Amino acid sequence: MTNSIECPECGSAKEVPSDSQQGQLMSCACCGTLLELLSLSPLSVAKAPQIEEDFGE
Ligand SMILES: [Zn+2]
Repeated sequence: MTNSIECPECGSAKEVPSDSQQGQLMSCACCGTLLELLSLSPLSVAKAPQIEEDFGE
């Protein structure tokens, strides 16, 4: 059984594997947005906070 969510950014459907875990990060194949699985029941995702890479001195 597969579940699917909608990307909050572009609205495209995305399958969530049944062995996914809460807090798992995945990227949308359509727009590349990094998504975080907030909850499994009910399925809920949100844009993951962008990781800021600090290349400063
Ligand atoms: Zn998307």
